[in-house]
Amino acid sequence: MLKKIFKSVDGLFKRSDKASGGSQQLPSKKKYTLEQEHISKNALETIKKLHKEGYEAYLVGGCIRDLLLSLRPKDFDVATNATPEQVKKIFRNSRVIGRRFKLVHVFWGKETIEVATFRGPHSKDDIATDAAQHSSGRILRDNVYGTIEQDATRRDFTINAFYYDIVKKQVLDHVNGLEDINSKVIRLIGNPQKRYQEDPVRMLRAIRFMVKLDFSIASETEQPLNQLSYLLGDIPAARLFDEVLKLFLSGNAVKIFTLLCQYNLFSYLFPLTAKALDKSPQAEKFIRQALINTDDRLNSGKTVNPAFLYASLLWPVLLEHLEKPISENLPNLLDLHDLANELIAEQSKYTTIPKRFGIPIREIWEAQIRLTRRQGKKADALLVHPRFRAGYDFLLLRESVGEDTAGLGKWWTCYQQADDQQRRTMIRQVNGDKKPSRRKRYHYKSKAKNKAEGKID
Ligand code: ATP
Ligand code: MG
Repeated sequence: MLKKIFKSVDGLFKRSDKASGGSQQLPSKKKYTLEQEHISKNALETIKKLHKEGYEAYLVGGCIRDLLLSLRPKDFDVATNATPEQVKKIFRNSRVIGRRFKLVHVFWGKETIEVATFRGPHSKDDIATDAAQHSSGRILRDNVYGTIEQDATRRDFTINAFYYDIVKKQVLDHVNGLEDINSKVIRLIGNPQKRYQEDPVRMLRAIRFMVKLDFSIASETEQPLNQLSYLLGDIPAARLFDEVLKLFLSGNAVKIFTLLCQYNLFSYLFPLTAKALDKSPQAEKFIRQALINTDDRLNSGKTVNPAFLYASLLWPVLLEHLEKPISENLPNLLDLHDLANELIAEQSKYTTIPKRFGIPIREIWEAQIRLTRRQGKKADALLVHPRFRAGYDFLLLRESVGEDTAGLGKWWTCYQQADDQQRRTMIRQVNGDKKPSRRKRYHYKSKAKNKAEGKID
């Protein structure tokens, strides 16, 4: 079993001879070493400084998990027995953050190392001061400190509860995480029902790690998911927005979406979309294609604007709210503007949509109308509009799942590639398709006439 791990990590992860006693079995005290060069210098420096001041300090959590699996950690976290205030005193360039879960951010240039104090169990005396729990079991405040062993059992999954001792060069595993790394299993520490009730976001984290690591989920960790999904309804919308971005901008959005639907979690993140999905198979086709494109872009090193993701996830809802199918009747811009604002406000109740994303979401939708207006100088003006690219990509996405746009996407593709003369011809053809309205012509005529008569200048 262990051989399998050693092979997969390819020299990055060595079992310490002392700990193993030369045996191929899992040693009772599980101690492993990591190659120091894969660890952030700033994290090592943070730990050394804490040691110098007489505190215990370890690398902890996801970074060790990722190093054990030969993945590049996203960030490096440190756990210590120093309180946040004591940590703050040691590092001039640091800030205590969080109320629910107080910790310290230590800034090293561009890199931030998160330093958390070992958490311990809550006693009655702590209630209302350092600890608080909702009647549903949700932990509202978790600032009771404890030992490293207690800290381990308060982390979410066994594979997220490793500590690395940089002096002894050993991975410490208090909750059998190495067994789960080896058998590729996501397993909550402790009683799953209680742990989800303490923090329902752990349900989303379980899905995220299953997909990110390609692990299965332990049956006892999986079993409560459907039944407890409603608990997400109590989580602040701002926190859920952050989680949605982590889930859908991971490069694995299609798989994540499938699992979120399977465990009934999606409908607590995007209730309006979930309803649209129930009603129309076309909605699912559109969203899946949007997520395939998102994954493709991210996996080929491109970026994805969260606004585009949200515009896609809510598009089927928008279509549902139009009076007539969009292929038959384009809504006017003002109506669409109002509808978009309403939808964005409604979705924000579940996952906050910051303004910097709300406006571009609306603009991407509005572009679906603006892109149909190509007469005169309008097409050229649209080409330099900051939202043109997103609007055009969105149009192609709609067409790729069979939405009828009368070949608008193809027209814009040609227009971008055309030279100036070809563009003029294309515009003339559009003008030929659609003559200016009588009212407009009359208006222009009368304006010219008025001018000739010296009534206006
Ligand atoms: P990644 O950074 O790749 O998303 P991670 O496991 O490092 O994964 P973080 O959100 O950075 O996740 O959290 C760092 C560590 O803090 C986790 O590994 C885990 O030990 C602990 N942790 C984070 N969120 C929770 C939670 N909701 N409940 C319990 N422990 C948590
Ligand atoms: Mg992390």
